[in-house]
Amino acid sequence: MCFGLRTDFRGQLFPGSSELLAVADTLREIRTICTCGAKATMVVRQSLDGRVLTEGEQVSVEKSAYVSLCRKHWEEAIGRWPVKGPE
Ligand SMILES: [Zn+2]
Repeated sequence: MCFGLRTDFRGQLFPGSSELLAVADTLREIRTICTCGAKATMVVRQSLDGRVLTEGEQVSVEKSAYVSLCRKHWEEAIGRWPVKGPE
């Protein structure tokens, strides 16, 4: 049994989570709630002054804070929302 984050602050799998998802017989989610009340599935990295960071090392625990958000608010936070459709 093990646990951890599925994706990093960019929404990309960690190497370890990729392997675990591949071999897991059972997955159980630990529910986290976004500020809007929806299920949080993503994480943003913030600098200590609250700016959202979209680049950097995959793992950084110093001088960073992490906030769990739903996909919509995560995409909004990283500047991808609203998503533009085909024109
Ligand atoms: Zn939300």
